[in-house]
Order: sequence, then structure tokens, then C-alpha cells
Amino acid sequence: MELGLYLHVPFCVRKCPYCDFFSVEGEPDEELYLRALLKEIELFKEFSVSLFGADTLKIITFYVGGGTPSLLSPKFYHRVIEKLLRVFDFRPLELTLEANPETLRIDWLKGYKELGFNRISLGVQSFSSKGLRFLERRHEVKDIILAIEMIRSVGTDNLSLDFIYGWKGQGRKTLLRELSLALEFSPPHLSFYELTIYPGTKFFKRFFNDSFFERRSERCAQFWRIIDEFLEERGYRHYEISNFAWDNFECKHNLLYWRFEPYLGLGAGAVSRIGDIRFQNPEDLSLYFRALFEENRLPYKIIENFSKTDKIREIIFMGLRMSEGICLSDLRDKYGLGIREEAIKLLCGKGFSQLEGDRLKLTKRGWLLHSKIVAYIWENIEEVK
Ligand code: SF4
Repeated sequence: MELGLYLHVPFCVRKCPYCDFFSVEGEPDEELYLRALLKEIELFKEFSVSLFGADTLKIITFYVGGGTPSLLSPKFYHRVIEKLLRVFDFRPLELTLEANPETLRIDWLKGYKELGFNRISLGVQSFSSKGLRFLERRHEVKDIILAIEMIRSVGTDNLSLDFIYGWKGQGRKTLLRELSLALEFSPPHLSFYELTIYPGTKFFKRFFNDSFFERRSERCAQFWRIIDEFLEERGYRHYEISNFAWDNFECKHNLLYWRFEPYLGLGAGAVSRIGDIRFQNPEDLSLYFRALFEENRLPYKIIENFSKTDKIREIIFMGLRMSEGICLSDLRDKYGLGIREEAIKLLCGKGFSQLEGDRLKLTKRGWLLHSKIVAYIWENIEEVK
């Protein structure tokens, strides 16, 4: 079986006020986390042999996300990869490391490169000082520029610059300036995520009743259109709602998620989905360590056991995020389910979707209403004979 492998690094120097990813503040205990991961890989190996019968798990992508993976040294990743090579058929084509600009060091970057990391996803967030201050990031614009220069100087060309848009104070002009500056570095891949105010974050408390956030959905839609036009005119393909790339530079690992392919997640908080089961490790370091070291068991809990309908819903939800859309004959042949013809006609007639051969895709207009359209399609799933 071919799998994507995700490794979660749950450490950050300081928690950003909008962030709802699992991470803890402070100096990471690299050695302790390494011991835990090696144990988890070992236990997973035993478990997978009992489940799949043989050593047949082939890792085709490796993605280290966080948290802040660039807080951990090449030595740490060396030991992890050494173990992965022993346990899996580990020959990923794409090895991505997420990095924060202010944490990068040239000697570590060389080390990551030597280990095989061939893609860096850099958390730029904004090319405006005002934006970085609003988001309370620890880096400045000059740190981003230095980080990109260092990444390039070690020969890593496959670079993604990751942004947040829709922050308070960002106007059309600022956004266009940020886009122009980003393209000066010719990144093959860019991500643009709308600033979302998640419950439980500092921003949620701060902006709960703020009129700016109540009125911002139309503004964010405008910004999304500006980003789309700007980048597509300059040779980037808008291949997923929030992601843009030159041809052949799409993130292979993330494509696995969107295409409902299996992936394994290692580390505290990591999520996996193999076959019909989605499982997750605890978002709590002490529970994660306790399961591995004291209870000698894998720390995950099953969080979802997909029925046929759940599966098709997920395939529709994720698949319609991509410009390639979903394949209707696959749904019919694999699951015996389809989408009512009248519903497809209506969506196409209103310009929200289009049919290309057997593929249903959302248009740009449709993407802006992705969740609503998906909910409508879900209501129109039917059994086919
Ligand atoms: S650095 Fe990234 S993962 Fe860490 S708190 Fe900030 S946004 Fe979240």
C-alpha cells in the first residue's frame, strides 16, 4: 500500500494569537520527542504487520508540519529518517519541511537538504510590516528575505511561500504590493489562507464582537479574486482553493489528502486515515508520552469510521477544493453512488460548476461558495444501479 507520511512537530517559540494548530510554547525537548517518535514508529510497524500482513507500506511523500519543524535540528530528522528507512519502504519523491523565517540557520538548512528534504514551505504570512505586527509574528520582512536567500543558497528551489490574507488593516494596495514582492523571488508554489478566527484562540476573545470581522466575508472574497487573477496572469495554476503552483510543483503530499488517498500521521496530535478509519494521536504531550513509554501502546484514538456515505461526502468535499474536481464514474463504479442529474444541471446552469467528460469541477464562482455547494450536492447523492 502506498501512503503519505506526515510528522507533527508540536513546538513553537510563542503561540500566535490566531493559531488553532496543536503546539506548545517553549524550548523543545528534542531528545525526548525523538525517543517517543522512534517508539511510535516501532509500535506502528508491529501493528501494521498484524493488520496488512507484510512489510508492504510504501511511503511516497513525507511532510513535516507543525508547530515549527525548523526548531528541530538535522540530527533529529536524521535519526527519524534512519528509522523510517528500516521500517518502511521509504522512498518519497517529495520531502517537505515547514519553516518559520526567523528560525532558519544556514548550517541546519544544509543538513535538511543533505537528508533529502527537497521542498521548504516557508511561513511568510505577510510581506507587510503592518501585517506581521497585526498577526504578532516574531519575524520581520527582512527575515523573510534572508530566509529565502538562505534556502536558495543551499540549492533548494522547490519553495512554497505561505500567506494569510484578510488581516485587519490590509487593503487592496497592500495585498498587491505583497503579491508583487512575493513574485520577485519566483517561488514555484504559493498558499493563501484567509485569516479565520477560531474559537479558543486569543483573536477569538479579542475580536469576538468586532464589526471588522463581522463584515469581512465580502472583502475576503474580493481579495481572493485579486490573488487568483494576479497569480494566474503570471503563470501560476490555481490548483486548489488556497494553493497556486507552476506546473509540476503542486504539493504532492497535500494532493493525497484532497484525493482521499491514505496517509499516516506520526507525533503528538497527528491525524491518520488508512482505509475507512481516521485516527488521531492526543493533542497533549504528556498523554502521548504516557501511552508510548508507560503503557507501551500506540497513542491514537479512532475518531471516525467512514461509512460508504461518509466516504463519498468526504471525497466530494475535498475533491471539489481542487481544480481537477471529482470523477463521477469513480463514485459510481467504486461506491454505487452518484449525484442527481438535476442537481448537476442546476449548478452548471448557474455557473457554479462545469462537467468536463466525467469530471465535475467547481468554477471560480463555485469555489467562493464551496461549503454551500458541497452541502447541496450532499443532499443530492443517490444510489445508482
Ligand atoms: S508558528 Fe505556526 S504553528 Fe506555531 S503558533 Fe504560530 S501559526 Fe501556530
